[in-house]
Amino acid sequence: MTIDVQQIIFENVIQPALLALDMGRYIEDGYRATIWLMWGCIELVLIACILVPLQRWRPVEAVTDPATIRVDMLYTFIHRLGLFRLFMFLSLEPLLDEAFGMLRSGSFGIISLGTFQLDQLWPSVTDNAVVSLLLYLVVFDFLDYWIHRAQHGFPAWWALHSLHHAQRQMTCWSDNRNHLLDDLIRDLLLVCIAFLIGVSPSQFILIVVLTQLSESLQHANLRLSFGRVGERLWVSPRFHRLHHSIEYGFGHNFGVLLPVWDVLFGTANFDDRYEPTGIDALGVDSTDYGRGFWAQQWLGFKRLVRT
Ligand SMILES: [Zn+2]
Ligand SMILES: [Zn+2]
Repeated sequence: MTIDVQQIIFENVIQPALLALDMGRYIEDGYRATIWLMWGCIELVLIACILVPLQRWRPVEAVTDPATIRVDMLYTFIHRLGLFRLFMFLSLEPLLDEAFGMLRSGSFGIISLGTFQLDQLWPSVTDNAVVSLLLYLVVFDFLDYWIHRAQHGFPAWWALHSLHHAQRQMTCWSDNRNHLLDDLIRDLLLVCIAFLIGVSPSQFILIVVLTQLSESLQHANLRLSFGRVGERLWVSPRFHRLHHSIEYGFGHNFGVLLPVWDVLFGTANFDDRYEPTGIDALGVDSTDYGRGFWAQQWLGFKRLVRT
C-alpha cells in the first residue's frame, strides 16, 4: 500500500514539480525522496495529534516563551519535510557518489566494502526481516550513543551541540533544534556507516523514522516515565530531560533509543526527577544562543570559530 501512495504522490506532485523546474534529470531521485516526504508528513501528524495533546495533559512546566517554541517548530518542519536532506543531496551527492563508487570498485584497496551486509552474518537467522531490522537498529543506536558522547566531549563539537541544549522551553518540537553543521556531521557519519554495514534503504528509512519519533517524544514537555523496567529498555521523556537538566545533566543519559549503553558505560541516571532545562549553570545566558533561526546558526558558527 505504501508503494501505491508513494506512486500517487510522486506522479501528481513531485514529478510535475521537477519537470516544471526543469529538473527532469532528478526524476529517479525524486521518486526515492517521495517516501521520505511521506514519512515526514506522517511524523508531523503524529506529533501534532498525539504528542501535543499529551503535553497539555501532563506538562512538566508552564509555557512562558511561545516564540522560542515556534523557532523549534521551524527546525522540525525543515528536517522532517526533507528540506535539509534535499540541501545535503544537492550539495554532497556527487562527492559521496564518487567516494562510495571508489570504495565499491576497490580503488582504495578495500574490495569487500559496499558489498558487505551485516545481516548475512548468520544466514537464515540474522537475515530474517525482524531480526535484521533489530540488528541494524542496535548498531545505529550504539553509534548514536558515541556520536552524542563526542558532541559533549570535543569542545568544537560542543560549540555546535550546545545550541540544542540552550533551549529552556523543551517541547516535542525541540529534537531538531541543532546547528546545521552538527546535523551535517552526524548525518554523514550515519550514511557512511549505513553504506559500510549494508543496510537496505527501506530498513534505513524505518530506523530513521522510528528514531525521530522517539526523539520527539523524549523532548516533550511531558511528565512521563516508563516505570522501573521500562526506563531501562527505552529512553523516556524523564530519561532525556535529565540529560538536558541545567544542574544535573550533560554527564548523564546520552542514549538515543536504548538506555543500555548508558548503563554499560556508567552514564545512566534513573532518578525520578523533572528538572528545568538549559545551560545557564555553565555561566552563559541562553539568550546568547540567539532567538531566531539565523541568529542561532550564526552564533553557533562564531562559537565554533572561537573554539
Ligand atoms: Zn546532548
Ligand atoms: Zn536532546
